[in-house]
Amino acid sequence: MTVLLFVLFSRKASSSTSVLLPKTGFPLRISSVQRKERDLFIMKRASFDQLYKWQRTNLQNEDEFILHDGPPYANGKPHMGHALNKILKDILSRYKLLSGKLVHFVPGWDCHGLPIELKALETHDVLNSNSLEIRQRAKLFALDTIKCQKEAFSRWGVMADWDSGCYFTFTPSYVTSQLKIFCDLYDKGLVYRDYKPVYWSPSSRTALAESELEYNVNHFSSSIYLKITLQTPLPECIADSSKEAPVYLVVWTTTPWTIPANQAVCYNPDKKYCLVRCKSHKDSKYLVIALELYHSLEQLWSCHFTLIKEFDGDIFNGHYYSHPFRKNESMPLLPGNHVSVKKGTGFVHTAPAHGPDDFLVALQHKMPILNLVDEDGKYSADAGSDLCGNDVLDKGQDIVLKLLQNDVIFKENFTHSYPYDWRTKLPVILRASLQWFIDTDKLKTKSIEAMKDVSVVPENFEKPMLTQLATRPYWCISRQRSWGVPIPVFYRSLSHTKEAILHRDIVEKVCKITLEKGIDQWWRMSPEDLIGEELIKKLDLIPGQIFKGMDIMDIWFDSGVSWNSVLPQGKQADFYLEGIDQFGGWFQSSLLTSVASSGHAPYKNIFVHGFVLDHEGRKMSKSLGNVIDPHLILDGDGKKQPAVGIDALRWWVASHVSANGGNISVGIHSIQQASEDIQKMRSVLRFLLGNLNAVTCSQFKQFSPTTLGLTDQYMLHLLSEFAENALSAYQEMNFRKVTSLVSAFINTSVSAFYCSIVKHRLYCHSLTSEDRLSALFVLSEILDQITLIIAPILPHLTEEIEMHHPWRADNGGLFRNRKFADMKKSDFSDVVDRIHPSLSLRQSVNKAIGRLNTQEWNVEISAFDSRDLHLLQMLQSEKKTHDSALCDLLQVSMVTLLGKNDEDSIAKELDNSNVDDSFTKIEFQHFGQIQITLSKTKLALCSRCRRYTSSDGNLCCSCLKVCSL
Ligand SMILES: [Zn+2]
Repeated sequence: MTVLLFVLFSRKASSSTSVLLPKTGFPLRISSVQRKERDLFIMKRASFDQLYKWQRTNLQNEDEFILHDGPPYANGKPHMGHALNKILKDILSRYKLLSGKLVHFVPGWDCHGLPIELKALETHDVLNSNSLEIRQRAKLFALDTIKCQKEAFSRWGVMADWDSGCYFTFTPSYVTSQLKIFCDLYDKGLVYRDYKPVYWSPSSRTALAESELEYNVNHFSSSIYLKITLQTPLPECIADSSKEAPVYLVVWTTTPWTIPANQAVCYNPDKKYCLVRCKSHKDSKYLVIALELYHSLEQLWSCHFTLIKEFDGDIFNGHYYSHPFRKNESMPLLPGNHVSVKKGTGFVHTAPAHGPDDFLVALQHKMPILNLVDEDGKYSADAGSDLCGNDVLDKGQDIVLKLLQNDVIFKENFTHSYPYDWRTKLPVILRASLQWFIDTDKLKTKSIEAMKDVSVVPENFEKPMLTQLATRPYWCISRQRSWGVPIPVFYRSLSHTKEAILHRDIVEKVCKITLEKGIDQWWRMSPEDLIGEELIKKLDLIPGQIFKGMDIMDIWFDSGVSWNSVLPQGKQADFYLEGIDQFGGWFQSSLLTSVASSGHAPYKNIFVHGFVLDHEGRKMSKSLGNVIDPHLILDGDGKKQPAVGIDALRWWVASHVSANGGNISVGIHSIQQASEDIQKMRSVLRFLLGNLNAVTCSQFKQFSPTTLGLTDQYMLHLLSEFAENALSAYQEMNFRKVTSLVSAFINTSVSAFYCSIVKHRLYCHSLTSEDRLSALFVLSEILDQITLIIAPILPHLTEEIEMHHPWRADNGGLFRNRKFADMKKSDFSDVVDRIHPSLSLRQSVNKAIGRLNTQEWNVEISAFDSRDLHLLQMLQSEKKTHDSALCDLLQVSMVTLLGKNDEDSIAKELDNSNVDDSFTKIEFQHFGQIQITLSKTKLALCSRCRRYTSSDGNLCCSCLKVCSL
């Protein structure tokens, strides 16, 4: 139908200049070549960059809507994930702005952290770089990335004060606010220091993150099966069967050097175990192993097992064994669901200082962590004189194996993949070191309670968020790196294991220095200078014996306290809007810090979206070659990929974001589809705009509709219904529904229905006729409401329309002048029943005529029920005419409307001179009975109105009348 409209649109008015064709400078298409220039022109002309500041100044008295931006990581080029997130936020902001709110949206960046530090170090001699050099390079790298991302976010039309209204986690004001919160939490007893196993590189004397490891597939290890004496009293069922002989558990380990640090043996309470008598060529002994491993171990060890007894794992509850090294020490047997019976023995040697599972067992059972390995990877004095000073991966391990030799049942050597330090290319170990923690246990209950006041959209994510919160084991917030916010702690001894000095006065002093000279001073100044003479005296510290902590904070703590720096004092954000991965990330870290600090959540609502995947549902990656760059969508590549512009990207986001938080696939096809959707809208909106041209302007502005026709009323009813549905879809954050409502309304109700039935009135009726102005009134309402409703998603298209609007072109743009509340609501709900028979007729006539041109046909309607007749007469008062709302609705040459009293005349009508031989007669049922007779007209095409209404091929009667005015 759109195509048909524009055939008429572009037609030259040859026979009469009085045909009022649409006229507008609004272009039908923007070519790929013009796209970028056009987008930039609109942004400039509509002052997108000033809009945020404008509303902060001009809407100060309105209710504030606070959307808090989760800071993206400043370490890469803008990608589709950013586009999805930032555009969704902007749609929400702009929706709220048009709802009359004062929007608070301060974009931010997460500037610290390991990936940035590593990128900054890529081209430098890392081993010889000091912290200050590393920090300087990392900062430059972050600044470059921020610049690039900022340009993209601003190009995507995101409304913010990009010049001076952003936040960065490395600025002095942000850092000092973070240090103060850290200090608050410490004073409240929510920060503590404890051991935790981390990857430790003895060769570079530092903890390493997973990303700093390289796996060597040819690493050589020894694994041992070690028997450990089960202490008496034995579990009853074992005691009964073992005839007082010693009974041993068997453990398997690939890191024999950790045996001295053994603190427990774990078993699986849900699995079956067995007591066997194991006979080898040397001796015979009672062993306990997992039943499932019976045969494989018998085979591996080349011995003979006799099964004595089977039992459940839970019989070990409350029992003890003798430590493999320190035989007189009783060690506990502990239940653990992490214990597998697929390999090993069903018992797991547990050294909490050297394994994450082991560490969790210790946490759960509140065991202190035994650490026997120093920073050089050597056994400490606590490991005993035999081991002290020996390298755990080398000579130390040999000594361990020698000391344990009588208890080793079986030993094998094997090569496997093992983590190495990426810099020194030497093996690393897992080693407990002292770290700083947030006491999540103390915060969990309060945080879960605080979530009761938070709405999660979609709802089904609320439970997983609470579960993640409840099961979070601990939050280690210290990192042994340089690019971050320092933990503001001093120590009274260099080993860092002695007393920590964390005092509010010192933190205040560090904050003061930071605000004056930057946080680099932490690395630059001596501890004495940082603390200052006065505080040294007050706190009874000894100059020369104070050492700075060199740990920095976890970046989740950096971003987790953003609410404190960014939100208006004492206010919660209305929305946090991020990807689903943030349930375990930013949503949680923000909640924990806010609850710790103020007792409530930092947000009232959480909205989550999925991830962007490629068109086959795979993660996008360089190696797969499936990355879609948002920049190419906007500007094209000058070759294969055409530029489709910002609004196509925005429409793609809105029309694909899933209301249930699911992932979103993107491919060239779906982007093109978005572009085509916009092109369809563009054509229809151009038609509306073209009719409201300058010629019409003066007459129209004086017009106020008194009696609108039935079809006009019906169209306004459809418009109201559409607007209401679209606004409630926005309210529900269901942007995808908004786009489908918009597309359906524009294509079906506006283009296929209303535009087709009003074009005769618009083009051919006299300029100021009431029915023409009524149609314009409706078109104007449609244009106004559609542009408002699509504006949050398609700000460029709507501002472009505003620029071409004959009486709004210079008013400063839609977002500064209009609001949803100004949309006129029409209450024409009763019109539906009244127009229904006529709409059904339209359908029937179209169906009967099929693909032929309806304009070449006359319709005779015989309504035998007076109610039907009455309803049809609302669209056509005359009995027979070429010019009526009913003719327009049915798009036919002539309509004859007959009632019951006209029954006799029906036969006569069929003989009418205008009737062709090939008439069709169809029956149509509605309420009572309506009969339709279709007959081909013998009239010719009128050269002005292009309808079959002329007797001689010149102007028809109606046109003659209009032209003579
Ligand atoms: Zn005509």
